[in-house]
Formats: sequence, C-alpha cells, structure tokens
Amino acid sequence: MIDSHAHLAGEKFDGDRAAVLERAWVAGLSHIVIIGETTTAARDLARTDSARLSFSAGVHPHEAHTFDAQRDIAAIRGLIADGAVAIGECGLDYFYDHSPREQQLHAFSAQLELAAETRLPVVVHTRQAEADTAALMNESAARGVVGVLHCFTGSLALAQAAVDHGWYVSFSGIATFRTWEGNDVVAAIPDAQLLVETDAPYLAPVPFRGKRNESAFLPATIAAIAAVRGVTPQSLAESTAQNAIRLFQLT
Ligand SMILES: [Zn+2]
Repeated sequence: MIDSHAHLAGEKFDGDRAAVLERAWVAGLSHIVIIGETTTAARDLARTDSARLSFSAGVHPHEAHTFDAQRDIAAIRGLIADGAVAIGECGLDYFYDHSPREQQLHAFSAQLELAAETRLPVVVHTRQAEADTAALMNESAARGVVGVLHCFTGSLALAQAAVDHGWYVSFSGIATFRTWEGNDVVAAIPDAQLLVETDAPYLAPVPFRGKRNESAFLPATIAAIAAVRGVTPQSLAESTAQNAIRLFQLT
C-alpha cells in the first residue's frame, strides 16, 4: 500500500523520523510520497531511501502570501530537476483564508502553468473554494494537466468534475471520523482514480484520532474506505497503490 501524501519532512518528525519510517514499512507500506515545499527538506529525505520515498515540491495555499513567482517557481524547477514527482501541494483554501484569495489564485495558477509545461501531476488542496478550483482545474486539464484532489472533503460535483478530467481523488483519515458525511463521494470514484493518504502529521484516523498522524496508520483509513466500497482492504490497498504508481510514475 502507498501513502500518497505525507509531510514527513516536517519538524513534527524531527525527533523520530527513522522510527516513523520503520513503522510504516512494518505496517506494510511499500512507498510514501513526501509532500515538500520550496526547500530541499523533502528531497533530502527522499534521497535517504529513493526506492520507497518520493517527493513533491510546491507552495501550499496557506503560504501563498509569501509566494514570489520568480523565486518560488525557480526553486520548484530546481527540485523537479532533482526528481520531484509532482507539483504541490498547491490550491485554494477559503475556509482558513491564511492568505489573501488573490494571492492564492496567483500561486495556484502559476503552479498549474508549471505543471502544464513540465507534464508533472499537481497535488491540489481545496477547501470551500469549489467554483475557483473547478475553473482552474478545467482550464489546466484542457492543457493536459492531471492531478489529485487530496484529502478530499468537497462536493460530489467537484469530485465528478475531477474524475471526468481523468484526475484522481484522495481520501484521508477524515473518512473514518464519526462526523464524516462523504461516503457517497467515496463510493462514486472509479477504482482506477482513487488514492489514499495519511496527510501526516495531520488528521490521524480513528482509532488514533488526536494523535500525531503517521504513515503506519494508513491501514485504518483503507479499511474504512474499503468497507464503504464493498471491497476487501487488501484489494483497495493494491488498487490505490497501482493508481499512485501510475499518477506519480513511481518506479
Ligand atoms: Zn497535505
């Protein structure tokens, strides 16, 4: 099974990163996509085990207020040259609004533009920004961009639009929460376009809710999603791993 989205290069793992990775392999994971920023931290971590770790590079919508197109796109280009498998996470978050919306749109558009040019997939964060997300996704998909709507909590309509463009939809531990209301969306994604992720250190699945999340907790999310879809956890683990390999061209 593959954790398609984890922030394991972040400081929350500085004290015990090697142990976190070891627990992931023991739990049966075969690969983890480390979500990076414009620094080299994710790249450097991925280089410690390049057969089982890949990395992305991008500017999160929360950080869009710091986005400087020249500097940051150059940094992402450098990380792509170093082997980044995706651009992101990038996107729009109008729930927290940690950055002005105009800046979020600017940073997201610039990263979609880079994706169109480099043919790399985008990892998209979207929260309460459906119309703008759909518009930019439609535009970039028309230019050949593919990607994943990660940690998806949006509407069936947005998920369906992603699926229609050949994009992927990824679910996290939120799908195990008692308050989760997205089972219709979970059930609607075609087998070949579904991904799973931890989004560690955030959003630990039940029964670990409230703890720091880590990749070893992925089976709990897989079990919940498999139950909704009426398949075995084993088969969901395998199909979502194949999907991650295809989208991110993991080798
Ligand atoms: Zn994330």
